[in-house]
Amino acid sequence: KDVLLEVQHLKTYYPIHGGFFRKKIGDVKAVDGISFAIRKGETLGLVGESGCGKSTAGRTILRLLEPTSGKIIFDGKDITEVKGTSLRKIRQDFQMVFQDPYASLNPMQMVGDVISEPIRNFTGKSTNQLKSEVMNLLTKVGLPEDAYYKYPHEFSGGQRQRIGIARALALRPKLIIADEPVSALDVSVQSQVLNLLKELQQEFDLTFLFIAHDLSVVKHMSDRIGVMYLGGLVEIADKKSLYAEPLHPYTQALVSAIPEPDPRKKKQRIILQGDVPSPIDPPKGCAFHPRCIHAMAECAQTKPALKEVRPGHQVACHLYNS
Ligand code: SF4
Ligand code: MG
Repeated sequence: KDVLLEVQHLKTYYPIHGGFFRKKIGDVKAVDGISFAIRKGETLGLVGESGCGKSTAGRTILRLLEPTSGKIIFDGKDITEVKGTSLRKIRQDFQMVFQDPYASLNPMQMVGDVISEPIRNFTGKSTNQLKSEVMNLLTKVGLPEDAYYKYPHEFSGGQRQRIGIARALALRPKLIIADEPVSALDVSVQSQVLNLLKELQQEFDLTFLFIAHDLSVVKHMSDRIGVMYLGGLVEIADKKSLYAEPLHPYTQALVSAIPEPDPRKKKQRIILQGDVPSPIDPPKGCAFHPRCIHAMAECAQTKPALKEVRPGHQVACHLYNS
């Protein structure tokens, strides 16, 4: 299948300033050189603890944040440095669904206007055309048509996320970056919203980058999964191999933490020691080495590169040097 999005050695650093003169004293290495590709129609899950850089990666890909270096190639076009009208044009092709739908919806705006705003901004459609499109979108996301005349506060969390999804769909994007779209919702509504996203993916030919902090949420959504740790991508594989045979010691710990529904199957949970180090001053060599039970001498010296060790299964770890 064709590649829709390719990210090459992407870095996003934030400068930090300190002291009386607010001089630059360092960088937060939020995203520190990640590479991956997403094929058309595919869902790539991007997983990692909070602060690992997954949201920053998502925002940088959408060019909501400026990349420090690296390349973003969307639909065959290098968009790393596109600006102005060209950037505006590309913006129609990708949309973001946020974690907290309420914070991203204007409380003073009627839902109909919330959803039609991107269409109004980007196209010259008439009010009547807009209205029928919004009604159609409301139906697609499972909301009644009279939602058009209501305000965001009149809806539950799950319904608000449906409004956010309708808005994201309004311009018929090719790529949707969903940043923890269900983590603010009750468990009972989470699967409804996930199922809706899957249905819409089929119907609208969408490609998803699905960001989450744990592996259980992305399990049903993703075709492939990438695991991030401290700004780096440590493993990427198709879903089946990642859950069945995680290779990176960090992924192994994450997989071991997924609750096992069958009580007859005993699972050994790997408890990680220590905390995630600061992205301002990440450990030398493998960023995971202070917490890794398999760490060897070279792990503190040399940063392992992400490389394919089985067909379609890439890992960044010295255990797989051969
Ligand atoms: Fe552990 Fe070394 Fe592999 Fe890093 S490179 S995960 S420290 S074994
Ligand atoms: Mg986040």
